[in-house]
Amino acid sequence: MSRSWNFYAGPATLPLPALERAKAELPDWENTGMSVMETSHRSKEYDAVHYGAMNLMAELLGLDDDHQVLFIQGGASTQFAMAPMNFIPPGGSADFVDTGTWSTKAIKEANIIAKGRVAATSEPDGFTRIPKQSEYDLDPSAAYVHLTSNNTIKGTQFHEFPDVGDTPLVGDMSSDILWRPFDANRFSLIYAGAQKNIGPSGVTIVIIRKSWIETANDNVPTMLSYKTHSAKDSLYNTPPTFAIYMVRNVLEWVKEQGGLVGMEARNRAKGDVLYGVMTEFPDFYKCPVEPESRSYMNVVWRLPSEELEAKFVAEGLDAGMCGLKGHRSVGGCRASIYNAMPAEGVEFLAEFMRRFARANG
Ligand code: PMP
Repeated sequence: MSRSWNFYAGPATLPLPALERAKAELPDWENTGMSVMETSHRSKEYDAVHYGAMNLMAELLGLDDDHQVLFIQGGASTQFAMAPMNFIPPGGSADFVDTGTWSTKAIKEANIIAKGRVAATSEPDGFTRIPKQSEYDLDPSAAYVHLTSNNTIKGTQFHEFPDVGDTPLVGDMSSDILWRPFDANRFSLIYAGAQKNIGPSGVTIVIIRKSWIETANDNVPTMLSYKTHSAKDSLYNTPPTFAIYMVRNVLEWVKEQGGLVGMEARNRAKGDVLYGVMTEFPDFYKCPVEPESRSYMNVVWRLPSEELEAKFVAEGLDAGMCGLKGHRSVGGCRASIYNAMPAEGVEFLAEFMRRFARANG
C-alpha cells in the first residue's frame, strides 16, 4: 500500500487506523452480516455508533450537561443560514467578526434572513490577521456574536477567543475543531463540517446550548430547526450513517492519542516546523499572515514568483505530496496539516521545501 502525503484542505487526510477499521468491518459489521451503511438507522447496532460518536465528542470537549452534540447535513454552509433563522428574533441582528471568505459568507446569509452586522473586520489588511478584541464594536442587543475560528483559505486562526459579555457566542470551527483544548462551554453554538478534522464530508457537527435552543424562533422549517434535531438526537430523519460511523472511528483515534492535549502537542510541533522553514529562507518563502494570527491547521506561503509556485506544486506532487496549491482565490501555496497529518508528512514537506529553496533561490 502506498499512501500519499495529503495536504488537501478538505476533504482531508484521515487517521489510517480509522480507515483500516472501516475496511476490516465493512462487509460484516458487528456480526450483522452487512455493512454499517446497509443497516437501519433505528437498529441497536447503529444506535451504539450514533450515541458513541456523540458521547465521545462531548467527552473530548468536556461539555457540560447544558450542551448537546448534533449531527446535521448540508455542510457548514447550511449552518450559515440555520443560525440566523433560529436565533435572530424578528427585527433583530447578529454581530460578526469578519475574517474573510467563510465569515463573509455567513454574514451574507444572515443578511438574507435578518441582519448581520460587522463588529470587527480585518478586510483593510486583506484578512491577513485576526482582529484584536480592542477593535471590536459590539452591539449589546445583538442576538449573538459569530466568529470563524480558523480561516482555511487565508491561513489565519484565533488563538484566544474574545470576551463578548453575556451575548451568546457562535463559532464556525470547521477547519480547527479538536486541534487543541478550549472552553467549548463558553460557546452557545459551535458548528463544523466534519471533512477536515473529524471525518468524511456529509455530516456537520453541531454543539449547542440546550437552554439557548428553548429561546429559538418557532417559524422555522422543520429540518432547519435546531429544536427538531435536538428533540430527536439527530434521528428525526435518516442521518448520514456511514459518515457518522467514520466520525466515531476518528474520535476514538483522537482519544487514544491523548485527546485534545495530545492533539495540541502534535499540531504545534508540526506548525512550528513549517513556519521554521520560512524563517530559514526568509527571502524565498514568505507567509502573508501576521505572526500572532498564523494558523496551525492551514499554513500558507508565497514564493518569489507564480512560476516558482507552480513548479513547487508540480515537483511536490512528483515527490508524493498532493494538495499544496493555495486556494484559487488567493494563489500561493498551502499545506493543510490537520490532526490526522502525521509529523513525518510535515518533516517530508519541510525537507522538500529546503531542497527546493536551495535549488531555485
Ligand atoms: N467554514 C469554513 C471555515 C470552511 O473551511 C468551510 C469549507 N472549506 C466551510 C465553512 C463550508 O463548509 P461546507 O463545505 O461543509 O459547507
